[in-house]
Amino acid sequence: MNVDLARYHRQMLLPGFGEAGQRRLQGSTVLLLGCGALGSVAADMLARAGVGHLVIVDRDFVELSNLQRQMLFDERDISDAIPKAEAAKRRIAEINSQIRVTAIVDDVNHSNIERYANGADAFVDGLDNIETRYLANDLAVKSGRPYVYGAAVGTTGMAFSVLPHTTSDAAWETFEGGSLATPCFRCVFEEAPPPGTIATCDTIGVISSVVGIVANFQVTETLKILTGNFDRVSRKLLNLDLWANEIMQLDIAGAYEKSDCPCCKHRSFEYLDGKAGSSTTILCGRNAVQLRHRQLSQGVNMDAVASRLREHSDVIANEFMLRAGIRDQEKNYEITLFPNGRAIVKGTDKPEVARSIYAKFVGN
Ligand SMILES: [Zn+2]
Repeated sequence: MNVDLARYHRQMLLPGFGEAGQRRLQGSTVLLLGCGALGSVAADMLARAGVGHLVIVDRDFVELSNLQRQMLFDERDISDAIPKAEAAKRRIAEINSQIRVTAIVDDVNHSNIERYANGADAFVDGLDNIETRYLANDLAVKSGRPYVYGAAVGTTGMAFSVLPHTTSDAAWETFEGGSLATPCFRCVFEEAPPPGTIATCDTIGVISSVVGIVANFQVTETLKILTGNFDRVSRKLLNLDLWANEIMQLDIAGAYEKSDCPCCKHRSFEYLDGKAGSSTTILCGRNAVQLRHRQLSQGVNMDAVASRLREHSDVIANEFMLRAGIRDQEKNYEITLFPNGRAIVKGTDKPEVARSIYAKFVGN
């Protein structure tokens, strides 16, 4: 055996893997969208498995409250004020020097995702908001590349793989015995819930074990995909609540036929084209950024947001607005939220920071 491959011996023994599978991993690039809890566990495992190139995009720095679950980081990253993507790169270099890591410290949005995904064979989801998930899904479907969704909050988690229906002859479309394409993220979750309806890790917390399970499920799916074992890719949505002792596999195979999905049926990529999702405006001279949702069929559940934020700060709320002071990444902000989803984040003139505060503390 090639000496470079010796470290992967136990994995190469697996059915459908072998030296050929290992070489496919070596020649693969994975785009990791977000390097928080899910992303750092996934990056660690994919690096150990020998994926040749990891592109890690994350906008945040490592904070003390991350260490409970974000496996790649340690206290030194905090004292040195290292961005997560860069901290992950440094740690991975110590774990597996045979692979390459590209660290990108940025907020993923419609104007940059295609560039960051250039050359990637699959996208792994370590995101903290649904808008960017629709964006990643748009690109996956448009470019015919797999997307492995995962999410964890509280004691619950979800994950499933998207092998998109494509107009090209993708390997899973032409698989022996017929197409293995799956529903896309938008076939399953047709519409983004209104802001404030989904709890976030920053407001209700998260248990590290659920992160581990979801991320490792994602890694397994990614390894199946990269080694060409498309027939082994799960056709179900993993849905679990560890505190309630519930582990379910929901059948989503029919979602493609049932839905009239704008993305994979009509090939309309609203998020990628910047027509859906939120827009930001820098409020000059006010050290503030305004966020506005382009399409919002329902208003924000203001009471739910207020009650979650009260755990963390003083909240002023009336029928017109909600205002709360928030501390994030060692800085203080003030968010003012309106029932139609519009928000003003004070304390920054950077749109990506405002989007991050919104995703973490309001949720969308
Ligand atoms: Zn779809």
